[in-house]
Amino acid sequence: DSVFSHVVRAPEDPILGVTVAYNKDPSPVKLNLGVGAYRTEEGKPLVLNVVRKAEQMLVNDRSRVKEYLPIVGLAEFNKLSAKLIFGADSPAIRENRVTTVQCLSGTGSLRVGAEFLARHYHQRSIYIPQPTWGNHPKIFTLSGLSVKTYRYYDPATRGLNFQGLLEDLGSAPSGSIVLLHACAHNPTGVDPTLEQWEQIRQLMRSKALLPFFDSAYQGFASGSLDADAMSVRMFVADGGECFVAQSYAKNMGLYGERVGALSVVCKTADVASKVESQLKLVIRPMFSNPPIHGASIVATILKDRNMYNEWTIELKAMADRIISMRQKLFDALRARGTPGDWSHIIKQIGMFTFTGLNSEQVAFMTREYHIYMTSDGRISMAGLSSKTVPHLADAIHAAVT
Ligand code: PMP
Repeated sequence: DSVFSHVVRAPEDPILGVTVAYNKDPSPVKLNLGVGAYRTEEGKPLVLNVVRKAEQMLVNDRSRVKEYLPIVGLAEFNKLSAKLIFGADSPAIRENRVTTVQCLSGTGSLRVGAEFLARHYHQRSIYIPQPTWGNHPKIFTLSGLSVKTYRYYDPATRGLNFQGLLEDLGSAPSGSIVLLHACAHNPTGVDPTLEQWEQIRQLMRSKALLPFFDSAYQGFASGSLDADAMSVRMFVADGGECFVAQSYAKNMGLYGERVGALSVVCKTADVASKVESQLKLVIRPMFSNPPIHGASIVATILKDRNMYNEWTIELKAMADRIISMRQKLFDALRARGTPGDWSHIIKQIGMFTFTGLNSEQVAFMTREYHIYMTSDGRISMAGLSSKTVPHLADAIHAAVT
């Protein structure tokens, strides 16, 4: 008998499990709107042209070797990543108050940042929005932080519960860590306005709450890299400290390459370099050093003006296609006379629409229409195309009537 026979089967991941179920469905009309991965109008995964070009350049460069990177990753990549999120003229970068380490995409960056905080920060509580990306509570709990929530979404208005957010952060113990989605909040697609961000910033600074930004969608929300970094830049402009986890999964389509970065903005260059020395102690026993290929692709693109411009054009095309899917779905529901106010579909931001459909309605749509999505009613707009919108609209119409 196996010494592991007592091991109980774990449930599938609530998001990635949707794809597992989808793959098993033989229906020709099946539609996977679960995982947040971009698809073309033809329903195919997309490798950006500029990424292909960068890869070709890397392959052709015979001087490139496969040696280990340093513990903190590719120096050039780290520098360019900080510039991308904080802005080329960021005083924090100029004053050397930022340390950036290459990590395994957004998830790995969050994990490294959280493990550092659990070891070295005086407050163990991290407040995460309710709801949030399902991996957040697990990452932070396993890192040794104590996870609390703050109100974020109001199902009645399908918008931001701003009053609840201010109350909950206002009553959080001084110094608590607060997880903020830099843009395109997942799963709700609801972001604070710039005025609301400013109020959040003032409240957080007045209570010495430590911002930990999760930036998984820079450029993907609005199509503009600068606009989608505004929240982060507001918190850096005031001279205060913050953490930022960046992912290149969506905005460069590098999902499986696992490219990301953790930046810590500190008050002084001396503190930043000490923080970096401790980040190395977190990374070394975790994965030793990060992979070289994806970071080299990113660095190749970010450092060359023409390639950078090409990237922004391809990025905007992805963002625009998603936005056009919102309008198409909204119009299709209106054309069917589907009961209810569906304006949130065009108001929400980023990859997802938080439809407001409940888990029974989702189960019905999967059973009767072979449409796969998370049970909270979140659909990935990037998985839709002009051809599949009518099928989805039929399913939603049938589910609510
Ligand atoms: N944060 C949020 C809010 C996300 O939606 C995602 C991707 N689903 C991530 C982080 C991290 O993804 P990755 O590790 O693939 O970069």
